[in-house]
Amino acid sequence: MKREITIPTSHPRFVSLMSRKKIVEGYKNGLVALEGLIAHGRGECFDYLIGEHSIESARSAADAAAAQMLISSYPIISVNGNVAALCSDLICALHRSIKKSMLEINLFYYSKDRESKIYSELAKYGVSEVFGTNPENLVKIPELESNRRLVDGDGIFRADTVFVPLEDGDRTLALRKMNKKIITVDLNPISRTSMTADITIVDNIIRAIPLLIDRIQYHQKNSTERELQRIIKSHDNKKGLQDALLTMNKVRENIIQ
Ligand code: ATP
Repeated sequence: MKREITIPTSHPRFVSLMSRKKIVEGYKNGLVALEGLIAHGRGECFDYLIGEHSIESARSAADAAAAQMLISSYPIISVNGNVAALCSDLICALHRSIKKSMLEINLFYYSKDRESKIYSELAKYGVSEVFGTNPENLVKIPELESNRRLVDGDGIFRADTVFVPLEDGDRTLALRKMNKKIITVDLNPISRTSMTADITIVDNIIRAIPLLIDRIQYHQKNSTERELQRIIKSHDNKKGLQDALLTMNKVRENIIQ
């Protein structure tokens, strides 16, 4: 028997429950790997601890990320199953906001079927050219063992900046060793990805991408290249991660008092 539960908009955790619903549906529709459900749960836990809103240091990391994407010659936006299930619409809007950017599908738990489904999901939002789907174009990232060692020779391999939300640590490190600037979104401030990336936005991806688009649009209208460089230079990733941890600790202190 099919179980259909409607979540009332008045529910205090409506947004979180809707995301959970999207991830479960994504799993049933073949977009999300079984392991992706666990990764989502880990994210939810940290989101709870930051109070399910965008903290100040995440906003300033989004500002630096926007600047970094704008000064790049070839920024690539990496899409995995969880990202596609949660926010294909937002990812496609981000891609549209930076004309020179491209999308690439990159899966830790690869299957051709999942890749095609993610492609179809992105296509729903008007994107037709997506890297990572032509096996003849795939090349290896040095020093990586998993399937994620393969990236598109015309996409991530050539990129100067890679936006890799909800990424795993090994790949982030390998991409950094290839001298790419790495931007990530990760709710866990102590994940290897968060600590390895150049710019980490500690926020839920469904809030982080609108922030990022907002800053991109602002800088496109108002900022010079020199100002963008200054924003990037003054970004201190470690400080942002420390701030997220302190916020989590404050929430805990307030509850325990
Ligand atoms: P690492 O390898 O970087 O140490 P990990 O093993 O936890 O971390 P994965 O499980 O591959 O890495 O990545 C999932 C990461 O994404 C987790 O750190 C999780 O907290 C985070 N995450 C999950 N859902 C969201 C979300 N909706 N928004 C932002 N981050 C999320």
